[in-house]
Amino acid sequence: MADHDVLIIGAGFAGLYQLYKMRELGFTARVVEAGPEVGGTWYWNRYPGARCDIESIEYSYSFDPELQREWNWTERYAAQPEILTYIRHVADRYDLRRDIDFDTRVVAMEFDESADEWAVTTDDGTRTSARFVIAATGCLSVPTAPHFEGLENFAGEVLRTWEWPLEGADLAGKRVAVVGTGSSGLQTITAIAPTVGHLTVFQRTPPYAVPAQNRPIADELAAVKERYPEFREVSRLTRGGAQCGEGLAYPPFFPDLDTDAANAELGRRWEGGGLCYQQAFYDLLLDPEANDLAAEYVRARIRDKVTDPTVAEKLTPRSYPIGAKRMCVDTGYYEVYNQDNVTLVDLTEEPLRRITERGIVAGDTEHEVDVIVLATGFDAMTGALDAIDIRSGERTLRDKWADGPRTYLGLMSAGFPNLFTVTGPQSPSVLSNMLTSIEYHVEWISNALEHLRSQGLTRMEPDPEAEDDWVNATNDTADLTLFPEAASWYMGANVPGKRRVFLPFVGGVGIYKQIGDGVAIANYHGFECA
Ligand code: FAD
Ligand code: NAP
Repeated sequence: MADHDVLIIGAGFAGLYQLYKMRELGFTARVVEAGPEVGGTWYWNRYPGARCDIESIEYSYSFDPELQREWNWTERYAAQPEILTYIRHVADRYDLRRDIDFDTRVVAMEFDESADEWAVTTDDGTRTSARFVIAATGCLSVPTAPHFEGLENFAGEVLRTWEWPLEGADLAGKRVAVVGTGSSGLQTITAIAPTVGHLTVFQRTPPYAVPAQNRPIADELAAVKERYPEFREVSRLTRGGAQCGEGLAYPPFFPDLDTDAANAELGRRWEGGGLCYQQAFYDLLLDPEANDLAAEYVRARIRDKVTDPTVAEKLTPRSYPIGAKRMCVDTGYYEVYNQDNVTLVDLTEEPLRRITERGIVAGDTEHEVDVIVLATGFDAMTGALDAIDIRSGERTLRDKWADGPRTYLGLMSAGFPNLFTVTGPQSPSVLSNMLTSIEYHVEWISNALEHLRSQGLTRMEPDPEAEDDWVNATNDTADLTLFPEAASWYMGANVPGKRRVFLPFVGGVGIYKQIGDGVAIANYHGFECA
């Protein structure tokens, strides 16, 4: 008999809700969390300026009507401290901590065929067993941490956005370098530019950033609270798991608009703020012409905002379609480059050669700094699973996924029974409001476990043919889009040696939910249950 019905790995948004559901259904469950606190992403990424890029009204749990009625978000896009406070509140409100082992990392798991259970080993050498394991390990929880020659010789301080010091960092008056201009770099740069002595930004690929139009949201929140349950129902059926203020209405198709109307739509989206800019045209990531116009609109705004035309040009993305890498949501990013204390180094012109005791050498110039901030990103979607030695029979999951992940619905992988992944590869996950996708997966998995129990069954895994079909469907649909044209983390392109495969399911949250619901209603079609 296994020690636990369910072992959950990770105590972020996903793991906490999974624990709540397991308790509600009467399963014995234990959570193992590598960190010392709940929160996952929002515990680790404490860098200055960190905040969500999905509106707080949507980027929050919906499972408890009282929780969403009582909680008051202060801003349209909540900052990291407020999100972490919220997650801690959830952990305390439902007394979740008593079933969590903190500071403990799962390092290995082996499936025991004779007992239909997993033997799980943690980094303190403890072994435990569970009938089911649910990996709530996060899509962006393992940094790539690229090797920079000489980093170990740097005499100053090295900070990493993904494990910012708990006590914070005093950067006032210092010479600071930031390497990386994705969302983490961009938020850090914007937040620290006013107070550092000198800021040198090392940019390899410029992002497309749209203004957040962040603001206090007391009135909006009060209005949504009046109809929160219906509001959430609508979000679950949208493409991105959030509504962009327009419910289920389809964005216009680009060919239906003349150039003036298309530009007007882009202007409206730009003024509205946030990632909803991508919703300007339904086919923005399908039609290269639509994409070009949307990209050109942003390029023109960069020229408007940055006074030095040479710097503006360096900041202008041209090498990939807009939206094909995760767009950034900014609060005054481009304006930072008008400050006298900020220098932009374009690494495509002056490659980053090495790090010295004094600073960073790019091209022929040594930039002397006191602090280096690395904002270089994550081994997305598969990194946390690859980091665990997951074995079933003769195979490891790592080997099985060497040429790209293979899953059915992003929930399970054939040959690895009783192992579920929350927001796993080949599910909408990172292309959506993650809270919508997390809740859907947690509820789907919980229903599946209840189904097995009610039938007296102890084992579930995908049928290999159903998995093949799903892998082909996810790859084929991604190939219809412009996503594969960017060397993005969606494609695994930011990790040397990682197979380039589009990792999430591109078909949208609403369609995915209909497929997932259909599979469950059809007696878990495509799964073998025994
Ligand atoms: P995580 O929050 O990543 O939690 C996973 C947990 O698992 C971690 O605490 C980790 O320590 C633990 N873990 C992993 N492996 C092991 C192991 N082997 N043993 C034990 N513990 C383990 N998404 C959005 O939709 N909107 C946003 O605005 C947004 N902003 C983001 C900002 C940042 C800086 C980052 C990095 C990501 C952001 N995301 C955003 C994505 C974000 O990761 C998700 O929204 C969400 O927080 C993920 O929750 P999770 O519980 O699935 O994973
Ligand atoms: P990222 O988007 O992958 O950005 C990493 C940056 O580091 C890129 O500019 C990359 O350049 C650069 N880089 C990587 N390796 C480098 C090297 N060896 N030399 C020089 N530059 C290098 O990572 P992230 O900013 O941490 O964001 C990851 C994801 O987390 C986001 O896309 C988003 O989904 C989420 N996130 C969201 C928010 C938010 O707004 N709520 C904030 C942070 C993160 P290249 O582009 O050339 O590879």
